[in-house]
Amino acid sequence: MIQIKNVTKTYSSGKNGKAQVRALDGVSLDFPERGMVFLLGKSGSGKSTLLNVCGGLDTPTEGEIVVKGRSSKTFSQSDFDSYRNTYIGFIFQEYNILDEFSVADNLALALELQGKAKDDALIERLLKDVDLEGYESRKPNTLSGGQKQRIAIARALIKSPEIIMADEPTGALDSETGKQVFDTLKKLSKDKLVLVVSHDREFAEKYGDRIIQLKDGRVISDVSKNEQDAFFETAQEEVSNKTYKAEEQRFVRSKLSIRHAGKIGVSSLKAKPVRLAFTLILSILTFMIFGLFSTLTFYNAESTIRETFVTSNLSTVKLEKRAQTNRKTYSYGVLQDEYVGTNSTAYFSETELSQYATTFESGVFGGAKAPSTLSFETRKESNYWFDYLSAFAYLPEGHALRSKIIYGKYPENEGELCITSYVAESMLDRQLKLRNNEILEADSIDDLLEKEFYLNYKTYRIVGIIQSEEVSSEYELLKDAADLNESAFMLQRDLKDYLTDGWHLVGFVTKDEVAALANQSKKSIEFEYNQNRSLCYATQKNTEGGYDFSDTYYPNGKYNAYSKLLNKSDVYFFQEGKTTLAENEVLVPANEWLSRLDQIDELYTQALTEYTNHAIYDRTPFINSLLLEFPDKDYSYISGVVAAWEMELYENPQATGPQQGEAGYEVYQDWRTTFEPIRSLREEAEYYRILKESVSNLYRNGEIVYVGNEPMHKEYTKDERATLVEEILLGIKEIPFNDTLKIRLCDEETQIGYGEVVEYTIVGVYGLYDYESAIANEFYLNENENTRLWEIQRVNLSQYEEITSKYKTNENEIYNVVFVSYSHSKNETDLLVDIWKNDMKFNEQDVRFMIDSSFVSHFSLVNSMVERFSSIFLYVGVAFAVFTALLLSNFISVSISQKKKDIGILRALGARGVDVFKIFFSESLIITLICIVISIAGSLLVCQIANTYVISIIGAAIFVFGIPSALVLMGV
Ligand code: ADP
Ligand code: MG
Repeated sequence: MIQIKNVTKTYSSGKNGKAQVRALDGVSLDFPERGMVFLLGKSGSGKSTLLNVCGGLDTPTEGEIVVKGRSSKTFSQSDFDSYRNTYIGFIFQEYNILDEFSVADNLALALELQGKAKDDALIERLLKDVDLEGYESRKPNTLSGGQKQRIAIARALIKSPEIIMADEPTGALDSETGKQVFDTLKKLSKDKLVLVVSHDREFAEKYGDRIIQLKDGRVISDVSKNEQDAFFETAQEEVSNKTYKAEEQRFVRSKLSIRHAGKIGVSSLKAKPVRLAFTLILSILTFMIFGLFSTLTFYNAESTIRETFVTSNLSTVKLEKRAQTNRKTYSYGVLQDEYVGTNSTAYFSETELSQYATTFESGVFGGAKAPSTLSFETRKESNYWFDYLSAFAYLPEGHALRSKIIYGKYPENEGELCITSYVAESMLDRQLKLRNNEILEADSIDDLLEKEFYLNYKTYRIVGIIQSEEVSSEYELLKDAADLNESAFMLQRDLKDYLTDGWHLVGFVTKDEVAALANQSKKSIEFEYNQNRSLCYATQKNTEGGYDFSDTYYPNGKYNAYSKLLNKSDVYFFQEGKTTLAENEVLVPANEWLSRLDQIDELYTQALTEYTNHAIYDRTPFINSLLLEFPDKDYSYISGVVAAWEMELYENPQATGPQQGEAGYEVYQDWRTTFEPIRSLREEAEYYRILKESVSNLYRNGEIVYVGNEPMHKEYTKDERATLVEEILLGIKEIPFNDTLKIRLCDEETQIGYGEVVEYTIVGVYGLYDYESAIANEFYLNENENTRLWEIQRVNLSQYEEITSKYKTNENEIYNVVFVSYSHSKNETDLLVDIWKNDMKFNEQDVRFMIDSSFVSHFSLVNSMVERFSSIFLYVGVAFAVFTALLLSNFISVSISQKKKDIGILRALGARGVDVFKIFFSESLIITLICIVISIAGSLLVCQIANTYVISIIGAAIFVFGIPSALVLMGV
C-alpha cells in the first residue's frame, strides 16, 4: 500500500535555523493493505513526523514515499492534498473537529471535500457505529472529549478511506474511553490499514498487528504478531508487494463548496465582533474620505459648468471683451521686464453682436459701462435700493424686451431715458432730486414719466419704464435694515452682484447716447496704455515772467501726454477751423488755461486805475459856464445837473442831453467830449471785471449767491456751465490772448530734469463743458512729438514702463458689455461653455471674450483651486485608501493566523490550498462588500452635504460621486 524508502526528515530549529534536528533518519518501511500498525517510541523519537510523512502532511527531506506504486517524487503539493483526500482519514490527539460546525456538518464537510453530496443516511449510520446516535445537530463544544474523538473517527470514516492514521488518539482521554477508541479502530483494521502513533506499549501489544519502534528518528525494531499472538520480526518480503492498476491509483481532488468556505469565513468574523466593528468603522470612514476626494480627481470643469448653466435660473448673461496689453519696463533704456496684462476693456463690433444674435434667438443688446458710476441724486439712504445706473444700453428695434415697456416709450432723442421698474422704485423710495431742485413726490412709478433729473451733471427726462424681473425676496430684509451687520453686509453684496449680473440697473437710451458714454470710457483705455509715461512740467514763473528749469527742481505738476484727440466735442481751439496739433502746439485742460488768463487781471486793473484817477477830468469849468447861463440857479443845483449827465451817460452811451437851441446845449457838447474817455474806460473795466468773474466762476464750477446775508456756493448745471463757456469764449475774442507752456522732462523718482526745455504754444483747451475733464491732468501733443518725448524718457529714466496693445478702439464699436437672453437651449449653453472655456485665451486680434457674472467668477475661482489642488486631493485620497487596505489586510492576516488550526484540520482532511484560499477569500469578500456598500452610500451622503455647501457659494456642485468614483473605490 504505502512504501517509504530511505526517508530522512530534518528540521532547522534554534535561532536562524542553524541547528539541525534529524526527526527521521533513513527510514524505510513497507505498509500492508490492512491491519493495525503501531508506531511506538518516546516523545521526540520521530513518530509524528513519520506519520505525517506517510500521510503526506509533511514532505521528506530525502527519500520518497510510494503510494500504490506512485512515487512522491512526481507529486505536486496539490497531489499530496489529493492523496490525503483520497486515501487517508486522520485522527488526532486533540480531536480537531471544527467548532463552528454541527456534528453532522463536520462529517458532511469531509464528504464534500471529496466532491460528494451530503448523505444524511450515511452520517446517521456512522454516528450509530461510534455510538453517538442522534448527535447530528449538536455543536462540538457541548460534547465530552471521548465523544469528540469518536466524532473525529466517524469523520475519518465517512469517506471510507483505505488508511486511517491516528496520532495518539487517546492521549487526552481516560483509559476507559481510550479503550473504546482502540476497540473501534481495531474493528476498522479488518479491512483497512490503521496506523496508530502511541507511546503506550500495553495498548500496542494488545491491539497491534505490527509494532514499529522508533528512536532518534530510526527504526529500532519492527515486529508482527502471528496467529498465536506472539511477536516476531517483520519480514519485509511478506508485506504485500502487489501491483496496482491505473484506475486504482487515481486520486480524488478535494472540492470545498463556496457555501462552506463562506460559512467558515463568517464564523471567524463572528469570533472578534468588536475588532471587526472597529475595523469596519475605520475602513468605511477612510473610504468615505477617499470617495469624497476621488470625486475631485474625476472632477470635470466643463461638464460641471455646463450643468450649472443648465440648472441655473439665469435669464440674461452679460458678456465682456478684454484686450491684451503688453508691458515692457526699461531702466535707462535697458529692457528689464516684459509681461502681458489682460484687463483692458475692449468693445464689441456690430458683427460680433449679430453673431451672438444667431445663437441667442431671444435677443441680444449692447451697452456701455460708465467709467465712473452714473449716479442720480437722492435724499434718502437705503441698503436695498441703489442710486446709480450700471450702464447705458441700447435695445435694438424689435428686441423682445421692448415689449416689456409698461409705461411710456423707448427713447428717441438725446437726453431721453427709459428706466427699469427696479430703478423707478428706487427713485421713489430714495426721493429723487429733480432738475428743478424739488424732491420727487409720486405715488406710483408712472408718475416718473416726463420728470427731469441730473445724471452726472447732464439732464435726462424719463420717457419710459421697462418691467424688470422680480428681485428675489431673500433680499427684502435689507429694506428695513438700518445698520448693516456682517451677514446683512454680505447679503447686500450678493444683491449688488445679483442686480448687476442682469439688467436691473441699466438705463436704456438712444444709440448715440451709448456711443457718447463709450467715448468717455475709451479715453480711459488710452490713458491706461500711456500711464507712467508722464511728462513733468513747471509753471512757476520767474521774475522775468519765464519758467525756471534747473537740473534739480521739484516739478510743479505732472501731465499725462496723449496724441489722440478724443471726445472732440469738448475741445476748443482758439483759432476757428483748426483740428490738429502741430509739433510745437499743445492742448491743455481748461483749468490750466484759465489759471493763465493773467492778462484779464492786468487789463482790468489798468482800466480801473485810469478810471478812478480823475486827473484828466474836472467838473468845475462846466459848472461855472452853466452858472453864467442860469443865473437864478445856485451852485449845488448846477453841480447836481452835471452829476446827472454823468450817470445818464454811464447807463446810456447814446444819451443826448439838451437839444440844439436849448439852454446849456454848447456846454453839454463840450462836457461830453471831455467825459467820453472816462466813460469808455469805466465800461472797459466793467467788461474785464465781468469776464474775470466768469472765468473764476467757471474755474470753481459755480457762483456765489447770497441767501440773506450768507454767501453760498451754487454749483453750475451742465447747461449753465455751457452758457457761461459761450460768454467767456466770446469775451476772450475781444482781448489779445496768447500763451505758452514750457516743458522739461524729469525723472519722477529722482526729480532730476533732463533734456532741453521745450516751449509749446497753447492753441486750445478742452473740458470747458465738463468740469471733471476741465481739471484733468492730461494734455495733448502732436503724435510725433509725443513719440519723441517718450523715446527720450525711455533712455533717460531709471524706471520707464511702456504699455502697448494690438487692440485699437474703433469709433463704431461702442458696446463694452453685451446682454444675451439665455433661454437654456443646448446651442446657447454650448456657446456659453465655450466662452467660459476660452475666456483666458486671446485670439489673433489679441482680445478675449468672457462672461461677466458673479456666479461664473465664483465658479472659476473654485475651479482653479480644485484644479490646482486636485493632485494633492488624489495623493491624500490614495494615502487614505492605502491605509484602509493595510487595515483590512491586517485584519485578514490576524484572522488567518487565528485560523491556523482550522487550516491544519482542513488540510489533514484533504482540502487543497485553493480550498483554504476560498475560505479567507470569502471572509475578505464579506468585509469588503460591507465596506464598499456602506462607503459608497456614505460617500454619496458626504458629497451631497459638501455640495449643498458649495452650491450655496458658487451655485455649482463639484463633488459629483459618479460611477468612476464608485469603481475606483471598489478597486481599492
Ligand atoms: P514524537 O512524535 O515521536 O514525539 P516528533 O516526530 O514530533 O516526535 O519529533 C521528532 C523530532 O523532530 C523532535 O526532536 C522534534 O523536536 C523535532 N520536530 C518535529 N517537528 C518539528 C518542527 N516542525 N520543527 C522543528 N523540529 C521539529
Ligand atoms: Mg508526536
